[in-house]
Amino acid sequence: MKQSQPAYRKVQGGIVFTAKQQPQPIRKIHTPKQLIYPLTDQRGQQRSLIVEDGSHVAAGQPIAESTNRLSVPVHAACSGIISYAQPQNPDSVLITTDREQHVTTPIPLDTPLQHSPQDLIKRIEQAGVSGMGGAGYPAHLKLLAALELSPHTLILNAVECDPATTCDSTLLAEYSEDILTVAKLIMHICNCSHCMIAIEDQQTALLNHLNKVLSETATQHIRVVTVASRYPSGSEQQLVESLTDQTLRANQTALHAGAICFNIATALAIHRAIYLGLPLLQRLVTVSGPAIKQPVNIFAPIGTPLSELLSACGLLTEHVTVLQGGLMMGQAVPYETSVVLKETYSLWIAPEQHTSNEAQPCIRCGDCAVVCPVNLQPQSLYQLAQAHLWNRPELDIDLATCLECRACDLVCPSHIPLTDHFIHAKLKVQELKQSRAKALHARQRYEARQERLAKAAHKRQSKDRKRKQISDVNAMLERIKNKVDNNNPESS
Ligand code: SF4
Ligand code: SF4
Repeated sequence: MKQSQPAYRKVQGGIVFTAKQQPQPIRKIHTPKQLIYPLTDQRGQQRSLIVEDGSHVAAGQPIAESTNRLSVPVHAACSGIISYAQPQNPDSVLITTDREQHVTTPIPLDTPLQHSPQDLIKRIEQAGVSGMGGAGYPAHLKLLAALELSPHTLILNAVECDPATTCDSTLLAEYSEDILTVAKLIMHICNCSHCMIAIEDQQTALLNHLNKVLSETATQHIRVVTVASRYPSGSEQQLVESLTDQTLRANQTALHAGAICFNIATALAIHRAIYLGLPLLQRLVTVSGPAIKQPVNIFAPIGTPLSELLSACGLLTEHVTVLQGGLMMGQAVPYETSVVLKETYSLWIAPEQHTSNEAQPCIRCGDCAVVCPVNLQPQSLYQLAQAHLWNRPELDIDLATCLECRACDLVCPSHIPLTDHFIHAKLKVQELKQSRAKALHARQRYEARQERLAKAAHKRQSKDRKRKQISDVNAMLERIKNKVDNNNPESS
């Protein structure tokens, strides 16, 4: 039997939540009447439509594709009729679903481990698989980078940062055999020598279950590891640092530590793409918070309006605030117009708040620095941001390091929304960099034009000089000829 290995590097700082939820049963939502698909992904990449307005599409049919390889295609999650831009969602396409559920025929691979990594990566790309742990980064790009950098370790991440989120551990419990199968497949693609499936140390039932499945399947080189249930130990950077005992700089990824890391839901989507021939059509979403009857994990087709999802979960009040991304890292979204995306893993639903604690001046207690998992001094960062010192290099470096985990907000006795200030500062620094890059580009273009003009003038001058020389020579020849003619008695 495989045993967990609890002695990994501890995450510094962080917050321990005592009431971490356990994996929960999975529910399914009824087919929504309408599905809405944005044509710009959350990383700003555009997709173009490949279906006609008013046409009928089958479930699993691609409806929009990436204009470059930096995004993934989108597939219809249910069959129905396509409508182009809607007044409420102009940059999106809508499917009015039918009840017939026409489905495209899935084309699974018979012997995936005999296929080349490039072939498998292509299929994963065509199935529209992107990171389902919140980042939305295309899985095929991560795998292509791994082919270059040859990581030795595959990490499958079921450590949920958020205290209210349980969708990944639930998937791992329900689909453990599929996860082990896909772990072998990803190891084959990336040529990894071993795999770690990471869960939280509080999840003893899940640990026992996984170790039992591992012992029954005699799976070599795959083991379950536990990390401390300490927010945000499930963030990719924290997890990779903890398991590889290496420190990643702000612009480095897991591959720099010799690892490739996938969220459990993404790994399962890769399994579906290769072994079942299914594109990414639905995802498991944790819906929790004080404004719903009880927390649920619910399978919803991608494109489901949040309003429909929330009514299926039983809202306790009409006016709610929805944090997409969970209690800690969630961003408030207008739920009337938002939809389930591939990266929507957790929704925290709270009654709409009309009052919040007013921010007070910083008392320099240092509590924010104690909990910061990446060793920043949030109070100093806050002062730089308050002073609008956007061009300070230390501000830029620290902001790039900040995980936006909101641990500092949670402990601040002055109720300063530090993370919101940092997010705003990141935008300002980005704007400054862009305007600098623009100015540099304009200067380079001006200098290049001046150089071109100088070269053209030089060329013109030398041409003029040459022309003048030729005409001088011709005039001289003419004069000589005239002279010769004048001196020749026969010519007169
Ligand atoms: S926790 Fe709040 S009050 Fe204390 S040092 Fe940090 S920002 Fe200042
Ligand atoms: S939000 Fe940023 S500064 Fe605050 S605790 Fe998290 S990583 Fe540190």
